[in-house]
Amino acid sequence: MTPTARQEKLLALLEARGLGALVVTDSANVRYLTGYVGSNGVALIGTGGRVLLTDSRYAVSATEQVQGAEVVIGRRDLLADVAARVGDVAAGGAIGVEADSLTVARYDRLRELLGGLATEPTRGLVEGLREIKDAEEVDAMRRAAAAVDQALETVLAQGIVGRTEREVAFALHGAMLDAGATEPSFATIVASGPNAARPHHVPGADVIPPDTLVVIDLGAVVDGYCSDMTRTVATGTLPPRLEEIYRVCLDAQEAAMAAARGGMGAAELDGVARARIAEGGYGEHFGHGLGHGVGMVIHERPGVRPESADALEAGMAVTIEPGIYLEGEGGVRIEDLLILTDEGSEVLSHSPKGLRTVR
Ligand code: ZN
Ligand code: ZN
Repeated sequence: MTPTARQEKLLALLEARGLGALVVTDSANVRYLTGYVGSNGVALIGTGGRVLLTDSRYAVSATEQVQGAEVVIGRRDLLADVAARVGDVAAGGAIGVEADSLTVARYDRLRELLGGLATEPTRGLVEGLREIKDAEEVDAMRRAAAAVDQALETVLAQGIVGRTEREVAFALHGAMLDAGATEPSFATIVASGPNAARPHHVPGADVIPPDTLVVIDLGAVVDGYCSDMTRTVATGTLPPRLEEIYRVCLDAQEAAMAAARGGMGAAELDGVARARIAEGGYGEHFGHGLGHGVGMVIHERPGVRPESADALEAGMAVTIEPGIYLEGEGGVRIEDLLILTDEGSEVLSHSPKGLRTVR
């Protein structure tokens, strides 16, 4: 879908809410709607016009990137330029602002600059459009997932026992870039032994020991889209409890993968894996949600959690990542990234999931 087509969809949403324009400040939303890639861009999308404001550092790149909107070079903080243009863009209607991205300080300042013009905070308008991926977006995510598959194979083939977690994390980072990624989509997690019981462990100077589980959670960005995958490997002969939690987690993960499809509730999907883990006796050791949406940002809507009210639809990209964490002993998490269809899903991550030993 072209940026122009996305702008048209947003305009329909604005019209339904009685808004004349939206001041788009979230950088992923700005990129989605205009193609602009940079650290300082604001899009004004309204019935009276479409404008991308940035500063002189991006004058050349913005002209190359932006589609369907006039590029205006403003001053560094852009708010005065927003105020100067948004009245025309809104063509007399109320002006929406993105509540999840505009700080209170900037909102106050913008209102001051706008004088009497009416503003209204909005939530999730563009994020809602971003939930359903088109063919081009899916293709970028496919390549981002392939970069991660390749990076993991490369690094596991070098062996991991005796290396520090941090060393392995950096090796994965480099291997992702070699495989075509522009950057990691989040800080790579390598968690060995008891550290694996912490879902968001920061890899440190600990040396990876033999005969335990190592959780490796990594993602890459390709053409602005993220991937996300977790594999847990054994570094030798496992204590029986760790072998058991791997089996229970994999069973739950595969059950949820088989059940996932557009048309079901996100909480319902979460429940499929959660029930298997509870049946296996580890219900209280799976504290986080089953998964999350992925796209231009690593954590997007929908949320796949017990309390989620989100409905899953064909075209959404979600992760399925149950985990079991035993404090002081170790942990396991297995995560795949998939695109939902009406019948089931296309799985983007392809690294093997059977328990494998890497020394
Ligand atoms: Zn992950
Ligand atoms: Zn994830």
